[in-house]
Amino acid sequence: MRIKRNSKGILDPRGLLDSRGILFSSDYLLGFFLFILAIGMIINITDSTNDRVLNALEKENLEKLTYEIADYLITDPGTPSDWEKFTFFNGVLPGLAINNKNNETLINTVSYNKLKLLEENYDLLINKNLFNEKIKSSIAIYPFNSNVKAIEVGEIASGSSDTSNIIVSNRTVKCDYLSNLAILSVSSRYDTAKNIGDKGKLCNHNIIGKKEEHGEDWICREFKIKKTDLEDNNYYLLFNDETIKDMNSYWVLDNTKKIAIDSNDINPISRGVVDLNSYFAKELEEDSSLIFYLHLNTKNSGFESVLVAIPKDMKIDSLNIDYFKVQDCYFVLKTWY
Ligand SMILES: [Zn+2]
Repeated sequence: MRIKRNSKGILDPRGLLDSRGILFSSDYLLGFFLFILAIGMIINITDSTNDRVLNALEKENLEKLTYEIADYLITDPGTPSDWEKFTFFNGVLPGLAINNKNNETLINTVSYNKLKLLEENYDLLINKNLFNEKIKSSIAIYPFNSNVKAIEVGEIASGSSDTSNIIVSNRTVKCDYLSNLAILSVSSRYDTAKNIGDKGKLCNHNIIGKKEEHGEDWICREFKIKKTDLEDNNYYLLFNDETIKDMNSYWVLDNTKKIAIDSNDINPISRGVVDLNSYFAKELEEDSSLIFYLHLNTKNSGFESVLVAIPKDMKIDSLNIDYFKVQDCYFVLKTWY
């Protein structure tokens, strides 16, 4: 879904999209300026219109504004684009789109961190900075996946208000939730031993040519952890429900110093959350960092596992694996006067 050109030709980012559907940040500023002008114009029309004509015109203008703002919110990260790292939001224009590691904006996305900041700062960021206190609104995302909670922020339309005067804009987006806390994310839908490629580099069991070599049934991944990381993060290995029910899937964790080949090292998957903190603390007792290997053995086509590092100062509602994956969601913006 892209922002429509209105009758005045205001804000048409289609020309800014490259072949990968990425909107480049250097082109934002002019669009932004025009965009804010458009809001101002619509609000001014509303202000100067008498009450009788108001309803029809107001509604039409509010609809136009709502659809454009909805498109704006999910295609633009805001100004500045990394405002979610700020503590004060005066002068911030909040967009909600995700900027990836290369600072490219992913369109039709909602950044979980940005959306969560609206919970505490809606009045300043949305009511004041975006709508200039002329329009009331609420913003929500409703994940398709029922294991993940919806997030609703903003004002609640009062019971007495006429719902026919509430404009609703609904879009389909991807929300990252807490997926940026995942060190490794494995799904048997995408990862098989065959498509991993050069397994020798990914599994320490294959280097020594022993008979414990990990073949077709294994998905093996390496990752590095530093001793100092343990001071800041808690580590958990998460599995989905389908994997927990499957008695024939199991996992092994080891490192370059100590290869796990004992049968005691093989762990059945019996619960959704495995606390790895004491394991890492023990293994890193005498080293400042180590390369670890997670070996997953499964024939289950619905297998999913995520290894997460959760900052100790972060409050987490749930350690359900689905919170650490990108989720398809409905994005709903409601506005009214
Ligand atoms: Zn392996």
